[in-house]
Amino acid sequence: MINITEKMTKQLLTPASGFLEGYTFSLNPYIGCSFGCSYCYVRKMPVNLFRKEDWGTWVDIKKNAKEQYIRDMKKARKKYESVSIFMSSSTDPYQPTESDAEITRSLLEAMNEEPPDFLFVQTRSPLVKRDLGLLKGLGERVLLSMTVETDLDEVRRIFSPTAPPIAARMSVLKKFASEGIPTQAAVAPLLPFSDNFASTLASTVNRVTIDDYFMGDGSKGKRTTSLGIEKLYKEHKLEEWYHPEAYKKLVEELTRYMPKEQIFVSQDGFLPPVKK
Ligand code: SF4
Repeated sequence: MINITEKMTKQLLTPASGFLEGYTFSLNPYIGCSFGCSYCYVRKMPVNLFRKEDWGTWVDIKKNAKEQYIRDMKKARKKYESVSIFMSSSTDPYQPTESDAEITRSLLEAMNEEPPDFLFVQTRSPLVKRDLGLLKGLGERVLLSMTVETDLDEVRRIFSPTAPPIAARMSVLKKFASEGIPTQAAVAPLLPFSDNFASTLASTVNRVTIDDYFMGDGSKGKRTTSLGIEKLYKEHKLEEWYHPEAYKKLVEELTRYMPKEQIFVSQDGFLPPVKK
């Protein structure tokens, strides 16, 4: 049972920093995330620490997001020559409640009228397929990045049991790529995978980004350690995968199937092509 609350926001576009350096803003249509992935370090951030509820059990909907986007964007245009937006850094813009709330959809409608110079959409939900037309409307200004941490659904079920199945995500990636929408698979964080993963990725998308706990959690793996993720690997006899070199195996395998220029590691795969 997810506790869903509607809220009004006074600021939708937040100046980007840290891992998102290079973007002008990050944009979170929701606060909280009902996917509740075990490795999600947002649960250790103030947004969750000050709540009495567990991460993954609550979501706040930013009811006035569309109107606030238009206001924030008008202000930003006066200040910045180029505006790049990362959506989203601490929620999934296509989490289950989006199917009714349509907040992300309303934002894409607004962006089709008042577009940023670049929009990075990070999700793990096949629901994004609903908005294919709106994303297509942004042309080369958009990149859809779909999280595919592994090709093994039994592994996905250990680490993020309430997130959508891997096959459904792959199918969306294929569809978007065939429609000519800039698309990437984000293997982030890298989880144990099969020998077929590299070839499957290469036949689905022409751009892959790999990240892990040690490079990508913003604290060289300390935040992930504090979540007790290593214990989960041990419980399932997967501990050989929990180390800072594990990602190199996938990079190496991918280079057999796609050009090196289309394989990105950690922050490089999340950077905008347009600098602020
Ligand atoms: S989908 Fe992203 S924001 Fe949501 S719980 Fe998982 S890692 Fe965290």
